[in-house]
Amino acid sequence: MNFSSKLLENAVAEFAKLPGVGQKTALRLVLHLLNQDKPDVERFSAAMTKLRNEIQHCEVCHNISDSKVCEICAAHKRDRTLVCVVEDTRDVMAIENTNQYNGIYHVLGGLISPMDGIGPADLTIDSLVERVKADEIKEVIFALSATMEGDTTIFYLHKRLKDSAVTISTIARGIAFGGELEYVDEITLGRSITTRVPYEHSLSR
Ligand SMILES: [Zn+2]
Repeated sequence: MNFSSKLLENAVAEFAKLPGVGQKTALRLVLHLLNQDKPDVERFSAAMTKLRNEIQHCEVCHNISDSKVCEICAAHKRDRTLVCVVEDTRDVMAIENTNQYNGIYHVLGGLISPMDGIGPADLTIDSLVERVKADEIKEVIFALSATMEGDTTIFYLHKRLKDSAVTISTIARGIAFGGELEYVDEITLGRSITTRVPYEHSLSR
């Protein structure tokens, strides 16, 4: 692309770094911002900067949070004996939207993927094992994507947790193989949590 302005080119280059955004879309977004009032654009960039500078990870569940302990972990009405293990904050949001789950979460921060060089130590797995040991947790529910990485991660987690006293279950996979959790509709996801099955049982099928 030939730009008439270096400033324009720089801004487009930044937007084009975003996932799923090509040069053309980046240009469209930048030109859109350029048509906005200055205070609107300042609010936009300030929101991004503030997000990046002030965001925290909950010290209990590792979910993205505005404070040291996230709202879900801090809520009194939550069932603390139930922990749902998810890949990232998008999955927490998807499950919260189902209104079918009243337990707490554990956010792994990714899935085990040897191809991408992501091993157990890169995720919050030790922290989960510690929580299971220390907390009043009775059941751990795996709600991970039905992909190779999801299955590998569940297999590894099961190995680490199977000697503890907790019940280990996995969400019913009404989800097609290769299905990403965040794209599943709320009704299906809600049902798959309420009809979860013991992990050992899911293996033998
Ligand atoms: Zn939390």
